[in-house]
Amino acid sequence: MRYISTRGDTPPMAFTDAIITGLAPDGGLLLPDNIPDLSSRLDALRELNYVELAFKIMREFIDDIPEAELHAIVRRSYTKFTHPEIVPIVSLGEARASRGELHVMELFHGPTLAFKDIALQFLGELFDHVLAQRGSRLNILAATSGDTGSAAIASVRGKANVNIVVMFPQGRVSELQELQMTTVADANVHCLALRGNFDDCQSLMKDAFADLAFKAEHQLGAVNSVNWARVLAQVVYYAYASLRFSTDNASEGVNFSVPTGNFGNIFAGYLARRMGFPIRRLLLATNENDILATFFNRGCYSRGTLQHTMSPSMDIQVASNFERFLYYGLNENAAAVVEFMRSFKEKGSCSVPLSALAEMPIAAESVDTETAMAAIKAVFDERGYVLDPHTAVGVAAAQRLNMPGPTLCLATAHPAKFPEAVARALGEDSAIHRPTHPALEALRELPTRCVELPATAEAVRGYIEDNLV
Ligand SMILES: *Cc1c(COP(=O)(O)O)cnc(C)c1O
Repeated sequence: MRYISTRGDTPPMAFTDAIITGLAPDGGLLLPDNIPDLSSRLDALRELNYVELAFKIMREFIDDIPEAELHAIVRRSYTKFTHPEIVPIVSLGEARASRGELHVMELFHGPTLAFKDIALQFLGELFDHVLAQRGSRLNILAATSGDTGSAAIASVRGKANVNIVVMFPQGRVSELQELQMTTVADANVHCLALRGNFDDCQSLMKDAFADLAFKAEHQLGAVNSVNWARVLAQVVYYAYASLRFSTDNASEGVNFSVPTGNFGNIFAGYLARRMGFPIRRLLLATNENDILATFFNRGCYSRGTLQHTMSPSMDIQVASNFERFLYYGLNENAAAVVEFMRSFKEKGSCSVPLSALAEMPIAAESVDTETAMAAIKAVFDERGYVLDPHTAVGVAAAQRLNMPGPTLCLATAHPAKFPEAVARALGEDSAIHRPTHPALEALRELPTRCVELPATAEAVRGYIEDNLV
């Protein structure tokens, strides 16, 4: 299996090169040169537990790591998950006047209680292996407004060949999210609180990567969701859930409702479907930042202004993984992708013919904050189950679209990560309405470590030069 760029101007490369490279040198995103079809092997795959299924799926895409080593990497990736099933499924039962059952698939049992752990734990183990093999080092530079930073830190803390520097806007990430980063004591972890906003952090990161001499000298690497390994790890839970819900091969399959930001999660579902797993439809759920919902409903991809909502990890206008989907949507025509992206960059919008969308297995709904909050309240009142504000967007979208067949709503964060939003939805008067988690409460007792800096390129570069080998 080789990896090619959506923009067609990068020589094909092996898997391990693709994950060290991250973004393709031509500015595109890396994709496998073919999508394996596993539809004739579903019965055998149905017998496997999560970790063994993960190994079998990843093996299809990774041929430059020996089998036994890959198996060990995959096994280690899921040892820090606290639930024996890794991704348990909880039924919400038959909602009133609904055509199919709703379920929640909990993707938040990893070390930082968000679904990003599923992919980042794997990426951290991969980096560890590949860097040791090559005798090289990597200094990961990341910018975060919340979930990504802590999950990235958890994925490489204590690893011998990797350092990580996470920049976040001082005073603008939630108290718990900040503690999840600054209480990590490992010497290879560096937290920088910058006196600026998230955009400043992100542009300082891009600026450091754009300076190729600086990037090479300091061996800078990235862990953002354009990294192919992150998508690959996410394919597994779609496959796993779809097999659990289809006891025979005549089944029409399940639907998934996916709270979407950068399009990484739902793109993994699209791939799982193309690999032959029994998946009917994918429901793309956005909050008020609805550029993707507008695209799938009207064919127009048009940048709006960023809105801050109660589901901050979905507050994204331009989704970095969308280009991967576009490549398939445009019949694997790299020149057409280049033209689409160029036109979008120039005019801030670009369209595809509606006929091209008709065959897509993706439906889309945009859910406003009020509706998401009402979904948290309704599910709690009817089922005693607490949704986090991101998951609530997906649940509300699934209830509105009311698709036939079982629908699995992906739960992307534990509700205790967003106690203010949940309390607002449920009413503030009772302690039960403020969700907690022992792993988060324990952080409040720990010492913190963090360096405060002005949000300037000189300050960040100076820190890297002085502190990283
Ligand atoms: C990152 C994140 C999302 C969005 O996932 P994408 O892959 O960016 O679409 C949704 N919910 C939570 C809690 C997240 O951390």
